[in-house]
Amino acid sequence: MRALTVAPGTANSARVEDVPEPPLSDGSVLVKTLALGVCGTDREIVSGHYGWAPHGTQRLVIGHESLGKVEQAPAGCGVKVGDLVVGIVRRPDPVPCPACAVGEWDMCRNGRYTERGIKERNGFGSEYFRIEPEFLVKVDPALGGAAVLLEPTSVVAKAWDHTERIGQRARSWQPRTLLVTGAGPVGLLAALMGCQRGLEVHVLDHRENLLKRRLLDALGAVYHAESLQELTGFKPDILMECSGAPSVVCDVLGYTAASGIVCLVGVTAPGHDFNIDIGLLNRNMVLDNETVFGTVNANRTHYKMAAEALARADKDWLERLITRREPVEQWTKSLERLQDDIKVVIDFS
Ligand code: BGC
Repeated sequence: MRALTVAPGTANSARVEDVPEPPLSDGSVLVKTLALGVCGTDREIVSGHYGWAPHGTQRLVIGHESLGKVEQAPAGCGVKVGDLVVGIVRRPDPVPCPACAVGEWDMCRNGRYTERGIKERNGFGSEYFRIEPEFLVKVDPALGGAAVLLEPTSVVAKAWDHTERIGQRARSWQPRTLLVTGAGPVGLLAALMGCQRGLEVHVLDHRENLLKRRLLDALGAVYHAESLQELTGFKPDILMECSGAPSVVCDVLGYTAASGIVCLVGVTAPGHDFNIDIGLLNRNMVLDNETVFGTVNANRTHYKMAAEALARADKDWLERLITRREPVEQWTKSLERLQDDIKVVIDFS
């Protein structure tokens, strides 16, 4: 079968390869791949800056944002032939640490977790993949192709879950406003979930994009194509940093209202130094009870929350986030960043 593979650590080693059928050791359920979402992590892997092949091999099958149809499944395993499914990305570490031991692999304490398509486990970027039934999530067929957004939505659902738990450290916490920095798929999904919570939502983008403006209008959110400094006087209760741009990360620290929460979702590359008055930042954060925290990945509970968020969303709105579909043969084109891209999907159907 055809698979999308890379040699992690080597830039531009991506290709379509013929590989053996997926091994039974990957799990008892056989899934036919329909679509694969592409994200910044995939681009990092392809450029040789991230990613690990399975032990004893040179190449990694890439792809962690999946959507497929069940082809074979043992009776009573929770999914059946024909079900539309998405695979969970992370697997617990083998020790396991206290977090992995209770199914919170997204909070792994020793870094020995593995991730499909990213870290030491082949991903979902092949015509078929196998997976353990307990790491599959069934999706509502009514979502159609937009269900490929479930994995990035699970990451956002975790960000919301943890933001709300942190907020509840004060019994009186009642956030009213949200600022999202970065209007990529993750930023837009964070805005969607903020609107679903009844918040006044603002999204900051680095340059004007009409489609994004319209998408946010449709949600009832406010789109800003300007810098944080230009939003004079607006201090949100919650700030979700989804751009992964080092200068924006620097600007958002301490930018919230009193008791505010800054949630860092975007991953940055090392090697960016900024001059910060740490005395002032610390003083403001302490005196205003502010929080800054980072979040990555998602566990099964978050996939469930994400499925609920997608089910409540307007299906056409979700479809509009998918701006480009590339066929498998030309999958490396999906890695290019074109100006009007939001979510690019590799089409296996
Ligand atoms: C994925 C996560 C993963 C993270 C770090 C993200 O792109 O969505 O599931 O944990 O990369 O590898």
